[in-house]
Amino acid sequence: IGLVKFRKSQDIIGTIKNVTISKKSGHWYISFGTERELAQTPRHPATSAIGLDMGITKLLTTSNGEVIKPKNSFKANQIKLAKLQRQLSKKVTFSQNWKKQNRKIQKLHHHIANIRQDYLHKITTTISKNHAMIACEDLSVTNMSKSASSTTAQKGCNVKAKSGLNKSILDQGWTMMVNMLEYKQQWRGGLLVKVNPRYTSQTCSQCQHIAKENRQTQSKFECVKCGHKANADINAARNILAAGHAVLSAEGGCGKGRPLKQKTCDIREKVA
Ligand SMILES: [Zn+2]
Repeated sequence: IGLVKFRKSQDIIGTIKNVTISKKSGHWYISFGTERELAQTPRHPATSAIGLDMGITKLLTTSNGEVIKPKNSFKANQIKLAKLQRQLSKKVTFSQNWKKQNRKIQKLHHHIANIRQDYLHKITTTISKNHAMIACEDLSVTNMSKSASSTTAQKGCNVKAKSGLNKSILDQGWTMMVNMLEYKQQWRGGLLVKVNPRYTSQTCSQCQHIAKENRQTQSKFECVKCGHKANADINAARNILAAGHAVLSAEGGCGKGRPLKQKTCDIREKVA
């Protein structure tokens, strides 16, 4: 493609292995994939471990009892988007005005995605900085965004429409969040352990008794065996943390056989 000018937003460290140029809603971006040897494996400054329960109304509930609300960037801009789309439907397809309107819609989509990404980056950086080990549900096992019915059973929440749930899940970008946690932990020498989400919401975090009846309502957990009462999401987060510890001890210590290759986050640069 010949010579291309670009604005360098950060130093390129290491050997450039590949270059990707992309176009997103009228803006061009260039990103470099690099490789370098680390002088030594990074050691995570923290010693604590945390379990994370991912949800819809609460984006995250930690085993420490903290709650992080989702940033529904999509919901906030939904009215605006609907208005733009209504206006688009009144225009003649492929006309200049139609194209102009389409660009406006693309721009808003891009704006929404940026808000979401920024929010997730802030959350994941904080968690990754403070905890050497993070345990969360393995989303590939849960397969939440693909099937609304299984999520209903698993999370025990009222799901009105499959599309509505999927939209809200996509809005929060659970997968994106887990990916961010994964590479940020690798950068710092910490660990992200993905656990099987099975029974995490039905198990008592005190006596490990598993029963559907433990979960009386969406928010309340009360063990039918030992009487332990807790917020359902905190109880689940504690089970996830316990499952994470179990995975580690089964593997025999700290992340044996884990890939040392680091993932890079996709910081993109705007081409001038
Ligand atoms: Zn119990």
